[in-house]
Amino acid sequence: MCGIVGYIGGQQAAPLLLEGLTRLEHRGYDSAGLAVLGPSGVRVAKQAGRVRDLGDGLPKRFTGKIGIGHTRWATHGPATDANAHPHTDESGRVAVVHNGIIDNAAALRLELADAGVELVSDTDTEVLAHLVARSTADTLEARTAEALARVEGTYGIAVAHADFPDRIVVARNGSPLIIGVGKNEMHVASDLAALVRYTTTVAHLADGEMATVTADGFSTYLVRTIDGAGHVGLAATDRRASEVEIDPSSYDAGEHDSFMHKEMLEQPARAEAVLRGRLDEKFGTGHLGGLNLDARELRAIKRVKILGCGSAYYVGQMGAALIEELARIPADAEAASEFRYRNPIIEPDTLYVAVSQSGETIDTLLAVQEIQRKGGFVIGLVNVVGSAIAREVDGGIYLHAGPEVAVASTKALTNMFLAFAMLAVQLGRVRDLSISDGRRLIAGLNAIPGQVAEVLGREEELAEVARELAGAENLFFVGRVRGFPVAREGAQKFKEISYRHAEAYQTSELKHGPLALISPEVPTVAIVPDDELVERNVAALHEIAARGGPLTVVTHAGVDLGDLERTARRIDVPRSERELDPILLTIPLQVLAYHAALSLGHDIDKPRNLAKSVTVE
Ligand code: GLU
Repeated sequence: MCGIVGYIGGQQAAPLLLEGLTRLEHRGYDSAGLAVLGPSGVRVAKQAGRVRDLGDGLPKRFTGKIGIGHTRWATHGPATDANAHPHTDESGRVAVVHNGIIDNAAALRLELADAGVELVSDTDTEVLAHLVARSTADTLEARTAEALARVEGTYGIAVAHADFPDRIVVARNGSPLIIGVGKNEMHVASDLAALVRYTTTVAHLADGEMATVTADGFSTYLVRTIDGAGHVGLAATDRRASEVEIDPSSYDAGEHDSFMHKEMLEQPARAEAVLRGRLDEKFGTGHLGGLNLDARELRAIKRVKILGCGSAYYVGQMGAALIEELARIPADAEAASEFRYRNPIIEPDTLYVAVSQSGETIDTLLAVQEIQRKGGFVIGLVNVVGSAIAREVDGGIYLHAGPEVAVASTKALTNMFLAFAMLAVQLGRVRDLSISDGRRLIAGLNAIPGQVAEVLGREEELAEVARELAGAENLFFVGRVRGFPVAREGAQKFKEISYRHAEAYQTSELKHGPLALISPEVPTVAIVPDDELVERNVAALHEIAARGGPLTVVTHAGVDLGDLERTARRIDVPRSERELDPILLTIPLQVLAYHAALSLGHDIDKPRNLAKSVTVE
């Protein structure tokens, strides 16, 4: 969450920083701010609201060739001008931007106040500026390290100091920090999106690492020693920059009104990318080299535990169902945010799977670390190459979805499902899954990109349904077994961008409570694939219709809805192999959510209170 940028070089920093922040607005957008370091010292401009407003209101002659900037996603204190970053010390010589949470901020604030420091914001971050300012160490590096040695929590930070006008010091612990190498200039950012217009030569800091960035290069180090008086010793590390392969236009919405729309329509091509080279048609299996597990090790797996947050958790449930069905291994998914707090039992013959688009989701990352601490083997399903989870796991499957900017995940989620399907087939094929079933599923997977395109081709028709659903304050999304995670994901997408109350339920559980809420004002979107449960599902729909509940049924051609055909709206998706149905049933729900939000006039890529890549706990 939150975006951090920094620049040091021969150009004026402010315009470059503003441009970078615009590219990071999906990471946090309740406030924005800049600090530039010029001949007259540090100057700060910051305010609640969007980056655009900050740019419009920037003071004249806001000059300086060194600068740092921030878009905030508030954790401590409301979105006000005073709480916006950068934060400064009392002398105004130190400026700090921060992504993350300082857990012991309250105690540090009291201590600083006792020492006579006047705190001017409600944030946890402000203490860092004061701590850096109060350090008497010789270098900015040591002052920053001393300040960080006092804090508990997570951070990505950038620090500028008027007494050290040739550098920015950055540090990372739990929140991403990337250094971009230009020609006689250097950039800093929390996300590649802010850098790719300027450079694709980048270095990712590791957790615990710090760096000094000057106009002509950077150096990295770790805190090695802290003595009783809190003085630190630093030891150099040899982190190098390397080229990332990225098309800068991926960070441009082009002719689309939003990144979500662009990313939704990219799905067929991105689905092809995740499958490419990983399907073995001859032996009817997946070919996932990155797992770092041979057939014997795959066979030794007794259980699969999947961890993710939000949509990654729901697709994890789809993945668990696939694995149980195809490999007959007990599998389940759990919210990573809950998992690590219940002192989970980590078993040596369990395969743990961490699912995260950004690879920086802090709850998932911390769950990975907890599993590894207890000796578990974890693989990652991650989109961002080189991200924290990707680096820490023991193996994994990259999703090849390309950069995903919209908060509401579409193409990454689809590719997560496809990665799970390949994993499930591969696990199945070293067990009881027959070669013919394997081949059937591989053929099914090969057909998915075209079938996704077919659903997306019906956008106009789906938009009409969406506009109608957007009129309701409350909705249900229901499904059973394979269809239930689909309903959960559909409801999640709908609520996060349309702000309607969309609740997911197992169709079978309706009559145990929620049926009381069904009325002509409460529509239901029902997931009814043509599978072994179709008759039970259709029966439940009758119970909803009998209570006047309007129905939209996502189903397959040929499913007979009986006399509901007259009143229910049906959305038929192409048939796949039964096990692979969930992803094709999910696609129309993305389109419904998108068009509902559009018709309500919402900012689709920046839903209120949310941000992409949740790097705070
Ligand atoms: N905890 C800090 C704040 O509330 C930083 C939040 C962020 O990551 O944007 O200001």
